[in-house]
Amino acid sequence: MHCPFCSDADTRVIDSRLVAEGEQVRRRRECNACGERFTTFETAELWLPRLVKRDGSRVPFDEEKLRNGMLRALEKRPVSVEQIEASVSQIKHKLRAKGERELKALVVGEMVMEELKKLDDVAYIRFASVYRHFEDLNEFREEIERLTKEN
Ligand SMILES: [Zn+2]
Repeated sequence: MHCPFCSDADTRVIDSRLVAEGEQVRRRRECNACGERFTTFETAELWLPRLVKRDGSRVPFDEEKLRNGMLRALEKRPVSVEQIEASVSQIKHKLRAKGERELKALVVGEMVMEELKKLDDVAYIRFASVYRHFEDLNEFREEIERLTKEN
């Protein structure tokens, strides 16, 4: 983000908050070169954080990919489209609320698991087993036992 006063690119965010019911983020920025402060409004879609993968590569957040991953886990499960959409919105909201430019892709995976757990245990286990690459059968069994105890 370039400073509107001196056009230096070295500006930093000093405050960040959601406005317009979470559809926009209002940012107060300060220019490190001239010290002037200014405000930006960014639409939430634009500033969903980029995801840092295990190998260090950066990819844009992909809502379709997120939804497809959840749908795959929820295949033939008694969960409505409305419930799934509510979960997707919830995840996007949490990502925005973090206010970070970049997040580990891992964080999104954990959020998906959290949401699936609320929706359907079977879907949660399906997703977790792929996502966490359970090392062996014991680890998988422990997770199922843990779930069974919680319910
Ligand atoms: Zn400046």
